[in-house]
Amino acid sequence: MKLTVIGCSGSFAGPDSPASSYLVQAEHEGRTWSIVLDLGNGALGPLQRQVDLADLDAVFISHLHPDHCVDICGLYVTRKYRPGGAVPGQLDVHAPSGAADRFALMYHGLEHAGMSAEFAVHELADELVTTLGPFTVTSYRVNHPVEAYGFRVEADGVVLAYTGDTDATPALSPLLAGADLALMDSAFVDGRDDVQGIHLSGRRAAEAAVTAGGVGRLVLTHIPPWNDREVCRAQAAEIWSGPLELAAPGGTWTLGGADGPSGASEDGTVEVDRAAGLALWADYRAVHPALPDEGEPPVECFGDSPALADELIAFVVDGPKRATAGLVAAYAADGDPLPRVGAHWVACGGDGQPRVVLRTHELRVGPLHSVDAQFAWDEGEYDRTLESWLDGHRRFFRRECERIGAEFSNDLEVVFERFSIVWPPELAD
Ligand SMILES: [Zn+2]
Ligand SMILES: [Zn+2]
Repeated sequence: MKLTVIGCSGSFAGPDSPASSYLVQAEHEGRTWSIVLDLGNGALGPLQRQVDLADLDAVFISHLHPDHCVDICGLYVTRKYRPGGAVPGQLDVHAPSGAADRFALMYHGLEHAGMSAEFAVHELADELVTTLGPFTVTSYRVNHPVEAYGFRVEADGVVLAYTGDTDATPALSPLLAGADLALMDSAFVDGRDDVQGIHLSGRRAAEAAVTAGGVGRLVLTHIPPWNDREVCRAQAAEIWSGPLELAAPGGTWTLGGADGPSGASEDGTVEVDRAAGLALWADYRAVHPALPDEGEPPVECFGDSPALADELIAFVVDGPKRATAGLVAAYAADGDPLPRVGAHWVACGGDGQPRVVLRTHELRVGPLHSVDAQFAWDEGEYDRTLESWLDGHRRFFRRECERIGAEFSNDLEVVFERFSIVWPPELAD
């Protein structure tokens, strides 16, 4: 079972993400089955990068707040007005009571039949079990100001639990228990949001996962743009000692599969779109014909997961990050040459799409412990202190060592690289 984050911005679309929407796919009887959990503002756009909308097998709407359902209107248009004729049949939409009327109202002026020719709307209920293809989806009524559900999705012997919007409630235990991955609302910040009965905080999400028991991996989501994401992570980490991540658009996780249903795979790796990266490179080369020929540049992403890649590319594109650090041993293990001063590389986001062309202008190889405060500052992540740089990079390098079968130490050789953005022109330094 594969989970792809389409949108994860809490309560409204953010500058970097649509509102809530998650694509869940599994192979069954010779084809890929695709269901969507929520269709919040803006989700329909990037959803089309992942799946042909006519191929969706069902939509599950957790509740009727716009940030979870409003893009159903666009989906209706794609089914009804497609050139060459409407998509045949009705798409199953599972949603809270009154959903069909609400959808028709959102699409003001719709005739009496509403969207009934396009959608078969089925009303959810607490502990209702819906089966389709490889999926068994159990809905649990959760704790939100309107009728709202969380979804426990089972397929291939693995479990994905999605809370939708909720505050703490006993229903979270059967929803989450034993889930390989728990995708949990963490919109509220402890100490800032005291109101009850609307959203979890990172800490309350972690407490619910611990109470339920057997949760393999905690992914915090529905974080609004006005939150400091790292505060949410830290509040959860006070309680939760297992794998903990923040959802980011384009992030994927594969549960079970080839390794058997023993739990989540690693984060999901980023598959870079090398052709798109080389196209961006060609655009840059076309306006800089005098540059020496250096062959095709590497097309890479920062970090080792879609979520981290997205977080770090944002520090480059929107922030001050102009340096990066990598293990010499990892370059060797991956068969990649070390960077060269004056050479270029294409950096991608967590969706594998290229964002910028970077040019390396300074390199130093030295032991991990030789990093200094200026380099940490230039790496431009989080609070930019040496302390947080060491903390974050020790964790990252430990994962890298595990991946390549090396032993971690503070003497590991590290490539300290400073770079500038050279393309596209609107982002270039
Ligand atoms: Zn919401
Ligand atoms: Zn809501």
